[in-house]
Amino acid sequence: MKRFIFITGGVVSSLGKGIASAALGALLQARGYRVRLRKLDPYLNVDPGTMSPTQHGEVYVTDDGAETDLDLGHYERFTGVAARRSDNTTTGRIYQSIIERERKGDFLGATLQVIPHVTDAIKSFVLNETDDVDFVLCEIGGTVGDIEGLPFFEAIRQLGQELGRRQTIFIHLTLLPYLTSAGEMKTKPTQHSVKELRSIGIQPDILLCRSEHPIPPEERRKIALFCNVRPEAVIEALDAKHIYEVPLEYGSRGLDREVLRHFEIESDRPPQMDRWTSVSERLRAPDGSVTVAVVGKYVALHDAYKSVIEALSHGGLANRVKVNLKWVQSDTLDRADCDASALDDIDAVLLPGGFGERGALGKMRAAQHARRLKLPCFGICYGMQLSVVELARNLAGVSGAGTTEFGDPEVPVVSLMSEWMRGNEREMRQQGGDLGGTMRLGAYPAVLKPGSRVASIYGTETISERHRHRYEVTPSAVELLSPLGVVFSGMSPDGRLPEIFELEDHPWFIGVQFHPELKSRPFEPHPLFTSFIAAAIEQSRLV
Ligand code: GLN
Repeated sequence: MKRFIFITGGVVSSLGKGIASAALGALLQARGYRVRLRKLDPYLNVDPGTMSPTQHGEVYVTDDGAETDLDLGHYERFTGVAARRSDNTTTGRIYQSIIERERKGDFLGATLQVIPHVTDAIKSFVLNETDDVDFVLCEIGGTVGDIEGLPFFEAIRQLGQELGRRQTIFIHLTLLPYLTSAGEMKTKPTQHSVKELRSIGIQPDILLCRSEHPIPPEERRKIALFCNVRPEAVIEALDAKHIYEVPLEYGSRGLDREVLRHFEIESDRPPQMDRWTSVSERLRAPDGSVTVAVVGKYVALHDAYKSVIEALSHGGLANRVKVNLKWVQSDTLDRADCDASALDDIDAVLLPGGFGERGALGKMRAAQHARRLKLPCFGICYGMQLSVVELARNLAGVSGAGTTEFGDPEVPVVSLMSEWMRGNEREMRQQGGDLGGTMRLGAYPAVLKPGSRVASIYGTETISERHRHRYEVTPSAVELLSPLGVVFSGMSPDGRLPEIFELEDHPWFIGVQFHPELKSRPFEPHPLFTSFIAAAIEQSRLV
């Protein structure tokens, strides 16, 4: 029988519901269960694809081409289960599907209402495609009490009623603030949050309490009493040193044990946590460190580069080093007379994805700096495209080279491709089309050049990687740069779209059109990140 775990949040946002859900998924998996994790986002956007990265963080792309919430990245990294389009929905998407059906006349004259039509659509999202798992973990975005969240809370309340306690559990994540002046932990915000939840008909079964200090026994009893949960179900969630220690931490506090107890599942086997213990040991005792400059436009919110940060740390784990990040705001390097000292004292440069003109010259300047000084440099998506522009301008001497993403370049070396192939199917993209949905999105295969550096890094000649972009490096750029030591070592299977370039006369300069960071996991670091960090270690030994 499959069971549903609903994870809600209270008191304040940013308590780490995504990590908590992912960690519980990992704990259940470590006990041999099959899990699926889902996120229900109450905002009105159809997906986060058009939201600002500095507000909402990164857009996580799945193999099947969905633009989703960054929490799905945590789910994948913690459980290794590839997220799918059917794992993330929003109010916008729910309403969109209802309205489309209404226009087609599917509702036969009914008056459409939040209850039951919207809640039914949410319930079918939760229940859909879950036959192959033991536990479905559903995280509700936002905090209890948010107006937009109400239909979601109502839908999970109904599911609790319909499926019963043997198939559903409610976990509520709250905060126990500590008042230093009074030297006291405060339970009132948690009590209020649970009161709010109960007022809409949901009694939590487990409280996961984020706290900076251990919960004294009398406070635990008080929370249990006022919130109507068992004292053992008040789980302390202390700040972990590193996110990859959260499963061990929550496991030691009995989170998974309480979940199984609720479902009356007898389990005398402890979870197999070896891989988490070894990650934790490596994190705690690295054999040195390297510093990587990340040159991007959205560095004000590090969440905008969540998967990049994680993939770099996985590369560090693979090489047993700590990776220090040096954030460089790309537009501070835009001007020719800028102070480039931000690029001093680093072992490598990473140019992440991005959009638009601001900071583009700065990224090119950083690419040129890394190329000339022979610093390892990794260009991802926009970072790759702008490296190609830099090479065309400064190596090939074509000063009018540019991308059609901004300005009107005399020689477009990166431009909008109107159609391409996905397997045997032709896909199209139109200039001026809707912003949502005009990108090359999701997994596409690429063929690597035999004997190339990337073929040896991957250890194979066909790969599949996730994409999210509108523009492509043009065939004329390939023609221009190939004779100059720029090897286009990865191409789409039809040979039309450049997917990877590498510089021949450089210790490690690789640009990729896709987002390898999305597929890196702590237990399976992405080979490009492992190799990039190895190159950074080499570089650090030179100085
Ligand atoms: N702006 C570029 C494009 O749309 C790159 C996108 C990205 O880096 N994800 O093609």
